[in-house]
Amino acid sequence: MAPVNSAFTQLGLADRIALAVLEKGYAEPTPIQAQAIPIVLSGKDVVGSAQTGTGKTAAFALPILHRLGTKGPHPRCLVLEPTRELALQVEEAFRLYSKHTNLDTTVIYGGVGYGKQREDLENGVDIIVATPGRLLDHMEQGAISLAGVEILVLDEVDRMLDMGFLPDVKRIVSRTPKSRQTLFFTATLPPEIASLATWALNEPVEIKIDRKQTAAETVAHAFYPVVASQKFDLLSQLLETTQFKSVIIFCRTRMGADRIAHRLIAAKHTVGVIHSDRSQRERVEALEGFKSGRFEVLVATDIAARGLDIRGVSHVINYDVPENAEDYVHRIGRTGRAQNTGEAFTLVTEDDVRDARSIERFINQTVERKKFPDFPYIYSALFDENNPALNAAPKPVSRLTRGARR
Ligand code: AMP
Repeated sequence: MAPVNSAFTQLGLADRIALAVLEKGYAEPTPIQAQAIPIVLSGKDVVGSAQTGTGKTAAFALPILHRLGTKGPHPRCLVLEPTRELALQVEEAFRLYSKHTNLDTTVIYGGVGYGKQREDLENGVDIIVATPGRLLDHMEQGAISLAGVEILVLDEVDRMLDMGFLPDVKRIVSRTPKSRQTLFFTATLPPEIASLATWALNEPVEIKIDRKQTAAETVAHAFYPVVASQKFDLLSQLLETTQFKSVIIFCRTRMGADRIAHRLIAAKHTVGVIHSDRSQRERVEALEGFKSGRFEVLVATDIAARGLDIRGVSHVINYDVPENAEDYVHRIGRTGRAQNTGEAFTLVTEDDVRDARSIERFINQTVERKKFPDFPYIYSALFDENNPALNAAPKPVSRLTRGARR
């Protein structure tokens, strides 16, 4: 192989890995990659507070592949992810970046049969990307041993806490060798996670990439006040008047998502739907259809909000305001990824005013309220610009309180 001279080899990565990165079209490392790659290569533990969308996956995948080198007799790297979608995405990244090596990656998640996964494990893999529940099932059935794990990645740990996975995560960690290298990523550090980090990590190096920067800096936000009975009409108006390449519409409930999807289909839009009542096959189909451009609209609940890497999403529309401000940041993180700009529209009814204001506090910005001049609005107190209770600007909050959990 001809020597590769790139910003990635200068960070210490082997040519065969840097080449895959170049072929993917990345010339420069993102800030988290520039920070994390040398530390991971040095074998140290890491606790990182970076969001997805910052290039986090490559920040751990590239130096891990370098350290693993060539194929071994048993799994040597384990990556735990909170959702099947994230697990699939991270597996894809490992496969891509390892294309000039002989390392094998497999993915393990629930909701599908065991046969194929067991077969992959029997065939021998170097890297396992897994969700905790199914991995434990395989461990209990004796299909997998973690005794040879050299590098463990706990990704999106705060999401794993939200989903009730921490006990499973602890059981899994305790089955890996103490001598392992551990990389730990979480956007927030509430006490449960801090104590897990203390237990799982050995003198970790801290990496911090401001988690609000991506959304706040690269996405244009707008709130559209509207009465509840006109929400769908306003959505239609937004879709009609906006030049969008692809748009994700977020709903609060699964039923709500289905309802909106049906109405959009009736209005001749091509639509994919993704929420937790849909089968794994349906979810993958919706996601793939959206990524390939077959569906111009993806309707989703918050299950899709975290982590999913969907290229070129020009717009996010929050049909329902998310109940907590952090989810807003994750939702809009689907657009404006890796320095692209995007737009995020949020429909706000009178019932949502408090949640909308807490979003403004969380992102530390006042979001512009917008109205369509020709839309036949039903009057609501929302439109009274002199009503300070509804429209007052948020008070800036300090960084310390912003990091706290809801
Ligand atoms: P992640 O935070 O891992 O979900 O990555 C977010 C997006 O950034 C993905 O689409 C990556 O393919 C992309 N990406 C990762 N590293 C780079 C890089 N060095 N330059 C440009 N884009 C990148």
